[in-house]
Amino acid sequence: MENIIQDIDIVDRNSEDASETVKTTANENTGKTKKLYIESYGCQMNFADSEIVSSIMKDNGYDTTADFESADVVFLNTCSIREKAEQTVRRRLSQFNKVKKKKPEMTIGVLGCMAERLKEKLLDEEKIVDVVVGPDAYRDLPKLVESAEDGLKAVNTFLSREETYADIAPVRLNSNGVSAFVSIMRGCDNMCSFCVVPFTRGRERSRDPHSIVNEAQDLFDKGYREVTLLGQNVDSYKWSSDENNKAWLEKKEKQGEEVQVINFANLLEMVAQVSPDLRVRFSTSHPKDITNEVLYTMKKYENICKYIHLPAQSGNSRVLDLMNRTYTREWYINRVDAIREILGETCGISSDMITGFCSETEEEHQDTLTLMDYVKYDFSYMFFYSERPGTLAAKKYEDDIPLEVKKRRLQEVINKQQATSLERNKLDLGQIQKVLIEGTSKRSEDQLQGRNSANKVVIFPKGEHKKGDYVNVLIEDCTTATLFGSAVS
Ligand code: SAM
Ligand code: SF4
Repeated sequence: MENIIQDIDIVDRNSEDASETVKTTANENTGKTKKLYIESYGCQMNFADSEIVSSIMKDNGYDTTADFESADVVFLNTCSIREKAEQTVRRRLSQFNKVKKKKPEMTIGVLGCMAERLKEKLLDEEKIVDVVVGPDAYRDLPKLVESAEDGLKAVNTFLSREETYADIAPVRLNSNGVSAFVSIMRGCDNMCSFCVVPFTRGRERSRDPHSIVNEAQDLFDKGYREVTLLGQNVDSYKWSSDENNKAWLEKKEKQGEEVQVINFANLLEMVAQVSPDLRVRFSTSHPKDITNEVLYTMKKYENICKYIHLPAQSGNSRVLDLMNRTYTREWYINRVDAIREILGETCGISSDMITGFCSETEEEHQDTLTLMDYVKYDFSYMFFYSERPGTLAAKKYEDDIPLEVKKRRLQEVINKQQATSLERNKLDLGQIQKVLIEGTSKRSEDQLQGRNSANKVVIFPKGEHKKGDYVNVLIEDCTTATLFGSAVS
C-alpha cells in the first residue's frame, strides 16, 4: 500500500466502502529524537483520534514521519465496522512483519476499534503486535510504549465514562490548513443491531463546549476557515457543567433535578459565533434526534453549512425495526420534509445505506430505492451488510441473505445514487455559489478546488485566488461527483 493521502470526499463518495480510506502521518521535524508513524483507517473520528495520539506522543519526545521503515513506533489506528476493514489491517501487519525482522527494536501498536474489540486476543493472534490500546486509553500510550521497549507487551482497553480529551490540542495531520475536524463527543448510546461502535467506543459523553469553542477560535486564528464538528450522533450532544455522560445527565433530569444543559443547537450557535468567516459543518446526524431547533439554527447563520449527513440505512420500516434504528420510514420522511421546508431544496442531504440486512426481502429492498427517489440524496456511502461478532444482530438474527444477492442489491443502490447525484448536480448549473478554496485541484495545477455550502466539490481556474479564500463561482458543468465553473466577482 502506498503512503497516499486520499481525499475522503472525492474517493469515497458513491463508493462501496469508506473504511478503505487510509491516512498516514507526514514528516514533521521539530527536533524530537524519536519518530512516530501512524496509519489510520475508517471514519473521521478515527482520523481525529490520531491527531490526539500525535499530540500525546509529541509531548513525550516523538516527531511524526511518513516513512514507517524509519519509525521507532508504528501505530495502526483501526476500524472494526466491517469485516473487510479488519482484514486490511491484518494484511498490513504482515507487511510490517518484514520490516520488524530487520529492526526488532521497533514498537508496533494497534489502536482504536479493533484493539478494543479483540483486546489481549490480538497479542496472541498477531505476534508482531507489542501494544493494544482502545480509544479511551490514549493518555496511557507513552507508558505502554515504554513497557513494550522493556520487552513487556501491554494492553489497555479500559472504556471510560467521562474521557473526552478536551484539554488536548490535536496535532493537525494531513491538514490542508483550511478545514479541520473537531471532536465534540465520544461513544454512542444507540444500539443499532448491526453496529460494533457501542462496544468499541463505549458510552456517549459530550465534550465541554467551552473547550470546543476555544479550539475553533484557535483554528480560526491560525488561518483555518472551516470546522467539522464530529460525533457518532451529534444531535444528541448534551452537556452540563457537572455532568458530561449522557445517561447520567438524563437520569438527573428524570429525577427532577434542575440541570442547565447545553444541547447541540446551542453548541452550533456558539461555534457559529466564533466568526462569520468560519464555516461550520457537522457529522453524523441521527434521524431520531435531529430537531427543528437545529434546523432553525442552521438557517439563522449563513456560516453554518447547508448540508446534513442523515443516514437512513434502509427505506423499510420492518428492516429499520430489526436494525433497532428507532424510527420508521414515515418518521425519516418527516425529517427530510422538515429540512426542505426550513432550509430549502438546495440543502445537501447524504445518507448511509446497508443492503442485504438479515431477512430483507426484495420488496423491502425496493423500499430503500423508493426512499432514495423521494429524498434525492446528493451522495451516499453504501455498504452490504457484514455481520459483526457480538452485535445484537449477530446474536438474534440469521445472516441469511446470500453474498451475491447483497452485492446485487448494493449495485442497484449505487446505480440509483449515481443517477440521483448527477440529477442533483445538474440543478446547480447556472448558479453562483460561494466556495471555500481548499487547495489546488488534483487534476491540474492551474485549477483550484473547494466546496460549496452543500459540501460539493467545485473546481475552477485559479486566476488570482488562493487557498483559504472565499470566492463566488458560476457553476457551468458537472459530473456525478464534481461541479466545474469559473470565478465571478
Ligand atoms: N453513527 C453513524 C450513524 O448512525 O449514522 C454511523 C457510524 S458507522 C461508523 C458508519 C456506517 O457504517 C453506518 O452508518 C452504516 O451504514 C455502516 N455500517 C455499520 N455497521 C455495519 C455493518 N455491520 N455492515 C455494513 N455496514 C455497516
Ligand atoms: Fe453505530 Fe447506530 Fe451508534 Fe451509528 S448510531 S455508531 S450506527 S450504534
